[in-house]
Amino acid sequence: MRDDTRKWIEADRAHCWHPFTRQAEWCHPDHEPVVLVRGEGVWLWDSEDRRYFDGNSSIWTNIHGHGHPRITGAIRDQLDRVAHTSFLGFTHPAAAELADRLCGLFPGGEMERVFFSDDGSTAIECALKMAVQYRIQTGEPERRTFVAFANGYHGDTLGAASLGGVGRFFERFRGCGYESLHVRSMEELEMLDDATTGRIAGVVIEPLIQGVNEMRPWPGGMLAELRAWCDRHGAHLILDEVMTGFGRTGAMFACQRENVTPDFLCVAKGLTGGYAPMAATLTTGSVYQAFLGDAERAFYYGHSYTAHPLGCAAALASLDVFEEDQTLERLPERIGQLRTGLAALQSGRKVVHEVRQCGMIAGIELRRPDGSRFDPAARTGEKVCIAARAYGLLTRPILDTIVLMPPLCATGEELDHAIGALDRALEETIDG
Ligand SMILES: *Cc1c(COP(=O)(O)O)cnc(C)c1O
Repeated sequence: MRDDTRKWIEADRAHCWHPFTRQAEWCHPDHEPVVLVRGEGVWLWDSEDRRYFDGNSSIWTNIHGHGHPRITGAIRDQLDRVAHTSFLGFTHPAAAELADRLCGLFPGGEMERVFFSDDGSTAIECALKMAVQYRIQTGEPERRTFVAFANGYHGDTLGAASLGGVGRFFERFRGCGYESLHVRSMEELEMLDDATTGRIAGVVIEPLIQGVNEMRPWPGGMLAELRAWCDRHGAHLILDEVMTGFGRTGAMFACQRENVTPDFLCVAKGLTGGYAPMAATLTTGSVYQAFLGDAERAFYYGHSYTAHPLGCAAALASLDVFEEDQTLERLPERIGQLRTGLAALQSGRKVVHEVRQCGMIAGIELRRPDGSRFDPAARTGEKVCIAARAYGLLTRPILDTIVLMPPLCATGEELDHAIGALDRALEETIDG
């Protein structure tokens, strides 16, 4: 191990605290963390100069690959002018242009206003607060409950977490945050009585596919049904496109695949192409109107770095790359290659229980050959992902579901490399 690698690992062990991490294991002397130092395209290099395919797009954020000259150039140009200025009381060119471009992605003009924040969680917080304040200002203050779906994930800040449905993350914080109701399906939603539906401010969903819930797609047509249900019951539809936004499902936004427009659209991860923390909550002219008038109607919410200029510059450049590289036009072929490659990986292999795919998002669920789940304590998914590193693939599992979510720019050859690495890791870890 190189001296600098050792130095970074020691400093990390002594002082860093990682997200969703068993720190005692992380800091154990036998655990050697991968120190990532640079990237180009779909590739990342560690401090020992080993190269890896970025198999989960750096925790689902990266769209056009690392070091894309168009995006890094745009960030540098902005940096040469000014790194950060306040969006409270002022505006700046990149934010104004970005808001215009984002609304332009809905050619019917349905999404009219953009509220910027920093992360997926804050994009959700904004939508929830707007939805509650909207009801107060439109004479329905009793509507302050949110409906969310079982096993959904909307972020870790308290409001967003109160809608989360993954027990192991959120159970201990129940009772904090918003009044929320969890349903498993449209059928369960349909069963709610009038007294309940009369208290609902909005319904929150990850459209087309739930991410943290082991990459589970919804039945086709469900989103359109949900839109109709919300319209019938006077509830807002809040779409969490933090994972699905920006081409990930094959369309710019997942909702466009079912011709649905929401009342609130939350985006983050891929907004900047994966280059900077930045988020946006888009909403309609009709919601916005309720915030006009006297001072009390203002939306009292914001962060120090709201509409960060470097993030806005990256986001604008990422949208340019979508056009210049014809990212969406090229996707069907890539999605097909991913499907074919994963089908080959699965064929003749009983431990691959199910492959779930939605666009460039895939979950490969591992089970025992008899179809029962592995003992969670065996951490099979994790072992496979760690083994895959030796073959040049970085990714993380969710329980025993291996996530493969490549940057959208991955070529057929690069996808083959990633699937090949997984194939060898499976062979080495559990086939034998
Ligand atoms: C990642 C994610 C979030 C939270 O975003 P952060 O940027 O991590 O706060 C919310 N919803 C979905 C669907 C996500 O995938």
